[in-house]
Amino acid sequence: MGELAAPRKRFAIEPAALFGTNCPMDFDQFSHIDTWIFDLDNTLYPPKVRLFDQIEEKMRLFVSDFLDVSLEEADVFRAQYWRSHGTTLAGMMDQHAMPPEAFLHFVHDIDFSPLPHSAELSSLISALPGRKIVYTNGTEPYARQVLQARGLEQNFEAVYGIEHASYRPKPHAEAFAEVFARAAVTPHSAAMFEDDSRNLQVPAGLGMRTVYISPDRVAPDYVDAAHQDLEAFLSQLVAACFSKPSGRLHEAHGHI
Ligand SMILES: [Mg+2]
Repeated sequence: MGELAAPRKRFAIEPAALFGTNCPMDFDQFSHIDTWIFDLDNTLYPPKVRLFDQIEEKMRLFVSDFLDVSLEEADVFRAQYWRSHGTTLAGMMDQHAMPPEAFLHFVHDIDFSPLPHSAELSSLISALPGRKIVYTNGTEPYARQVLQARGLEQNFEAVYGIEHASYRPKPHAEAFAEVFARAAVTPHSAAMFEDDSRNLQVPAGLGMRTVYISPDRVAPDYVDAAHQDLEAFLSQLVAACFSKPSGRLHEAHGHI
């Protein structure tokens, strides 16, 4: 691995003292970022939507059928592979020679109607300077369906899925290396948003800024910023660093 990033101080952003005419110190670490990389599931939509519950249920059905075991036994295999391989898919491919295509198609064939449309999130992502990319352990076609349901399909210049990483999932370093090479990402001017803290360790080691989107009150040391809600975090970041003086966001926050 290349040069390690300098030691960093983790902080949880408090609601107070976030708005102002100057970029606060906590947000200044993002002022040089020109590439913004977003995980998809439970990051670009809130976990309360429980979209991933549908995928979980379809994964256990597929594993149960593929291994010819009960649903409960499939759960045991899946839990084991989540720990040992990062994902159900990686463990099933490695331990059972499962072909990925049929699995991925089956588990992503779900109901997208619970996803709320969010014009506000779209405008916040648009306000970030530079490139915006999605990188998910799902597939690109699935990610595009999620983005369409959220009203975010115009926000990203590229969407990368597990098929662009030779079916190796985050958090494996090889997966990040393949996708970041495809996307021509310069880590020292990039930031990554994730709800799974394991998937921020490699990006942090490469010198990227890392944002942990989670209700967890504790985050690993390699996390630069943590917030339970992406929209709220971006609202504060944009207002602090990237809002235009005559912009709608600035006007909205001027009343606070
Ligand atoms: Mg996720």
